[in-house]
Amino acid sequence: MHDGIPFQERMRWRIASRIRDGILPRRGPDEVLTGRGDGGTCDGCGERITRVDAQVEATFVDCTLLHFHRSCYMQWNARRGQL
Ligand SMILES: [Zn+2]
Repeated sequence: MHDGIPFQERMRWRIASRIRDGILPRRGPDEVLTGRGDGGTCDGCGERITRVDAQVEATFVDCTLLHFHRSCYMQWNARRGQL
């Protein structure tokens, strides 16, 4: 997609709106695992996490499991306390 908005900017905007809409939690995960992507969908930006991407798997006490690109995870972590 080349709509003039840089990828990083779109990603930040998407994550912020998902936090506002309550799709992404405001509280932090209870366990975090990092590894390589397995082709799943990122809960942050909605794009695929491919094998060349670093993936973060975030688990919550209630067994919710979220997958992020590493950069999306950092972004969610940075924003969730502010919105
Ligand atoms: Zn992502």
